[in-house]
Amino acid sequence: MEGFNPCLDCGICCTHFRISFYWAEADDAPGGFVPVDMTEQLNHTLRCMKGSNQVPRRCSGLAGTVGEKVACTIYDNRPTPCREFPVYFDDGTPNPKCDELRATIGLPPLPHAPLPRAA
Ligand code: SF4
Ligand code: SF4
Repeated sequence: MEGFNPCLDCGICCTHFRISFYWAEADDAPGGFVPVDMTEQLNHTLRCMKGSNQVPRRCSGLAGTVGEKVACTIYDNRPTPCREFPVYFDDGTPNPKCDELRATIGLPPLPHAPLPRAA
């Protein structure tokens, strides 16, 4: 289980939600970091990731094939909602929303988070 990352063969959340965030997270604002060319203005205060505000939905930052092999091409600069959507909660319990979304593409439920190895 070491190095286990269930997101790498999933990616379904990146095609499910509208990924919206405060406009100044985009890199045309001081301190912003999300590539602005990959965003779309929603209103005076919000932007979203291109591709996530339409149906079918797919964030423009997602590379690969959902359910097989995926990667976030802006991982280090992804916006807040992506950072705050947990795969696991602090007690190691899988996020039930992950399991719900994974089931829609035939992926199994997540196992409980691996326990730290004994020293
Ligand atoms: S739905 Fe959960 S497991 Fe799948 S990519 Fe998103 S965060 Fe990762
Ligand atoms: S920015 Fe990356 S993590 Fe966030 S929805 Fe897009 S591909 Fe997924």
